[in-house]
Amino acid sequence: MTKIDENITWVRDRISQAALRVRRDPEAIGLIAVSKTAGLDAVAAAVRCGISDFGENRVQDLISKSGVYPEVNWHMIGRLQTNKVKEVIGRTALIHSLDRWALAEYIEKRAVLAGITVPVLVQVNVSGEESKAGISGSQVEEFLDDLSQFNQVQVKGLMTIAPEVDNPEETRPVFRELNRLFKQIGKKDYPRVKMNILSMGMTQDFEIAIEEGANLVRIGSAIFASGR
Ligand SMILES: *Cc1c(COP(=O)(O)O)cnc(C)c1O
Repeated sequence: MTKIDENITWVRDRISQAALRVRRDPEAIGLIAVSKTAGLDAVAAAVRCGISDFGENRVQDLISKSGVYPEVNWHMIGRLQTNKVKEVIGRTALIHSLDRWALAEYIEKRAVLAGITVPVLVQVNVSGEESKAGISGSQVEEFLDDLSQFNQVQVKGLMTIAPEVDNPEETRPVFRELNRLFKQIGKKDYPRVKMNILSMGMTQDFEIAIEEGANLVRIGSAIFASGR
């Protein structure tokens, strides 16, 4: 086995174990391989292991890699500049980083011109770190209310990035809070909003995120970097 095979096996095992610890179905947890540091050979190896979803945080990389591997799903997980919207919509399965109003306006405008709908997650800055993008937890519902004027932007759920910490256990309250919001919003009836996807958890903290309700994890270095 190549290293990437072994890494993916390790990650899948850990996902299953985390799910089972909290009596969740491991099959209900989606895995995105974050290939932002990986070359095409590494992506090819992951595709051979059955990975169907990849994440990129730069539009240029998403466009070039999705051009080579159009048969898998490409997720835009990084900050998206408004002037890149038209290149990325239509090529991405899901934009995880809807983090501001101006971006929503652009996505709507471009989606109308292209005649498509664009699935997105609202990125929430749960921890309130100033350096992080995202709508603050207390403003998410108002944001969703405002978004209902758009026909082509389709909200599928929420995403967050936990703070970098020494002890992953410290991320738990962040994930718990996002799950609380996810459920609360799910009970309400916003037009064109479906709370299906809770995207949280990276290499440092995916097991905790799963214990706290994540159903989509975004894992880069545990798959593509040597050494976990
Ligand atoms: C890089 C990145 C990841 C993956 O991080 P790892 O620590 O390498 O697993 C997940 N989400 C986002 C938004 C990222 O930018």
